[in-house]
Amino acid sequence: MNQSQLKGHIAGDAEFGANPLANVNPSDLIDVVGYFAQADVADVRAACRAARDAFGAWGATDVQARADILDRAGALLLARKLELGELLAREEGKTIAEAIGEVGRAGQIFKFFAGEAIRLQGELGPSVRPGIDVEVRREPVGVCALITPWNFPIAIPAWKLAPALAFGNTVVLKPAELTPASAHALFGVLREAGLPPGVANLVMGQGAVVGAALVDAPEVDAVSFTGSVGVGRALAVKCIANSKRVQCEMGGKNPLVVLDDADLDVAVNCAVNGAFYSTGQRCTASSRLIVTEAVHDEFVARLTQRMAGLRVGHALDRTTEIGPVVDERQLEKNLGYVRDAIGEGARAFGGELLRASTRGHFMTPALLVDTSQHMRINREEVFGPVATVLRAGDYEEALALANDTEFGLVAGICTRSLKYAQHFKRHAQVGMVMVNLPTAGVDYHVPFGGRKASSIGPREQGTYARDFYTLVKTAYVACG
Ligand code: ADP
Repeated sequence: MNQSQLKGHIAGDAEFGANPLANVNPSDLIDVVGYFAQADVADVRAACRAARDAFGAWGATDVQARADILDRAGALLLARKLELGELLAREEGKTIAEAIGEVGRAGQIFKFFAGEAIRLQGELGPSVRPGIDVEVRREPVGVCALITPWNFPIAIPAWKLAPALAFGNTVVLKPAELTPASAHALFGVLREAGLPPGVANLVMGQGAVVGAALVDAPEVDAVSFTGSVGVGRALAVKCIANSKRVQCEMGGKNPLVVLDDADLDVAVNCAVNGAFYSTGQRCTASSRLIVTEAVHDEFVARLTQRMAGLRVGHALDRTTEIGPVVDERQLEKNLGYVRDAIGEGARAFGGELLRASTRGHFMTPALLVDTSQHMRINREEVFGPVATVLRAGDYEEALALANDTEFGLVAGICTRSLKYAQHFKRHAQVGMVMVNLPTAGVDYHVPFGGRKASSIGPREQGTYARDFYTLVKTAYVACG
C-alpha cells in the first residue's frame, strides 16, 4: 500500500479526496504514518449514492456468498495481524501486543458474523385466528452510516461493518480523524476478500463536516455511532427527526469496587489493567476505584507500588506496558483533570508529563486518592490513564457510589463473597458486570452496551447485533 497519500474508497475501487492530512505517530511525532485525503460534503453524498445503488444486489445476494466474503476477510485479518497491528500501534499508540490483539479480534468478529449471515432465521407460528400462519422475518435495513472513534481503530469498525454486511446492508464508514490508516487497511482487506464495489465505502475527514453530512444524507437509513455523549445525543435527535434508525455507544465512568474480603492481588491486577492498559483510552476503563475501609490503605499502597514499576514508552517497544496518549489535546485534558482534582483536595500519585527517547505524548499513569464523589474527576469521563480512589464504609455504600453516575456501561467488583457478587450483578445499573475481572475486556459473541447516558438503541455484537442491522416484518398468510 502506498503510504504517501491514502484516499477514501467510493464504490469499492474508485478513489477520491483532496487536502491530505498527515497522520502522526503519537509515540514519535516525527514519524508520519501517512497522508489521508479529507472528504467533503459532495464526496459523502457520492459515497452514500454508491451504497444506495449497491444495496439492491447485495441485499439479494445469497447468504453463503456473503458468509464466504466475511470469512475470507476474517482470515486475511488474522493472517496479517502482525503487520496491521504495527500500523495500528503506530497511528493510535496502544502497545504492539494490544494492537496485534485488536487486529486478531477484528478477524474473529468477521468470522463470527460470517456464520451469523447463515444463522439468521425467522419464526413461523399459528395465528390466534383460524386458518392463518404468522411468519416473522428479518430483512436488511438499507444503507448504514458507521461513525467510529480512534481508540479501537480496527475493532470498532469491524464490529459495525461485519454485522451490517452479513445481514445484507451496504455501508459508508467514517473513521475518526486521528486513525484513518487502520480503517483504510481494513477496506483493503474487504476488497481483497471479494466485497463487490459500492457495498462498503470509506469517507475520511472531520466529524463536524463528514460525519454530520453522513447523518443528514437522505440515502442513509441507519446510523451506528461510537464516540462522545455530546455528539451521540445530538446525532440521535437528528436521526429520530428524520426517521433513521440510530444506535450510540458513548462514555463511561466505570467503577471497580474492592471489598474487604477481596484477594488484593486480583484487585490490584484488575485495577492496573482496567485503569491504565491501553493508556486508559477505553470506554470500559475503570476510572473510579471504590474501596472499603479495612483494605483501603493496603490496596492503595500495593497499587501505587505496581504503578511505579509500569513501563510507559514507545508503543512499538516490546517492553512497553503503557503507550502514549493519542494526541496533545487529550494529553492536556488528562493533565488538566489531574491538576483540578489536586486543587479540589485529592492526593496524586503519578499523572506527570514524561520524557522518553522519542518525542511523544507520554504521561505517567495517575491515581488520585482521597477523592469525593462530587469532584469533577469523579463525574466526567477523562479517557486517559487516570483513576481515582473513593473510600466506602461498607458494601452498601460502595454499591451506592458505584451507581451514583450519569453513565452505566460497565461495573466491576472484587470479592470472595458469593452473596455480594450476586447482589452486585443484579443491582449495578450498567450493561455489563465483571466479577474478579478488569472492567475492560469483553467477548465478541455476546451483547456489548450500557445503560443511562452510555448507550442509545439496541446492543452491539453477538447475536444481538441483528436487532439493529435487520428490520423485522410480520407476514400473515391464509393457509386455507
Ligand atoms: P472523541 O472525543 O472520542 O473524538 P467524538 O464524539 O468527537 O469523540 O468522535 C467520535 C466520532 O464521531 C469521530 O469519527 C468523529 O469524527 C465523529 N464526529 C464528531 N463530531 C461529529 C458530528 N457533529 N456529526 C457526526 N459525527 C461526528
